[in-house]
Amino acid sequence: MENLIQLQKNYDLIVELEKRINYLRNYPKLIQIKEKSRKIYNFQNKWRKKLDNSRTDLKKLEKDLQSKEETLNEIVNELYSGKINDIKILEVLKDREEKMNKEKESIENEVIEVMGKIDIYTRELNKYKHKLNLIEEKIEKLESQIEEKIRLYDKKLLEIQKNIKHIRNNIDTEILQKYDLVRKKHKNALVAVINQACSGCNLGVYLNTMDALALKGVVECENCGRLLYIEIN
Ligand SMILES: [Zn+2]
Repeated sequence: MENLIQLQKNYDLIVELEKRINYLRNYPKLIQIKEKSRKIYNFQNKWRKKLDNSRTDLKKLEKDLQSKEETLNEIVNELYSGKINDIKILEVLKDREEKMNKEKESIENEVIEVMGKIDIYTRELNKYKHKLNLIEEKIEKLESQIEEKIRLYDKKLLEIQKNIKHIRNNIDTEILQKYDLVRKKHKNALVAVINQACSGCNLGVYLNTMDALALKGVVECENCGRLLYIEIN
């Protein structure tokens, strides 16, 4: 009888340990942190994209600026070469010089604006990079803690399984077969009678069952089929 109780206790431990392992594998806090890190990652990408676009803009502006400068140089060279005497042509060239200078100035202003944006985006990107690093460290730490705990539980499971094997060797075959059969239906195949009721199905136990229990030590519950015993404290 004592062995059968021990067997049930060990099976209960397995159920409990598996529940705990399962909980750890879906640890809510870890899921939450991972969700947060995904959001930060997306923010980081958003700023990176903006930064990349601004850098492309800057390159284009610089190229434009260079081309304007070249054109301007050509105009200035022509204007002040002393070779052109026609006033009308000189006036046209003057106009073009002025126009070119205005365009150049406008591009220069744009360059300053884009550079300011690049500054801001770089700062934002670095901020999120830093945040992401911190949260990734946190995730790694938590994951390793969880893994260690699971390893511990796995080790315990192996020990319990060894215990179970040992206990089963010391139980009468007929009782063991009966127990295994009930266990296919109810994980808690062996339950105590508490206040004259089966603690598996909570229904009352007949007096003659109590009598049989007193005599044999273990009988089936008439209602649920679980094996009953009387707990002696
Ligand atoms: Zn019952």
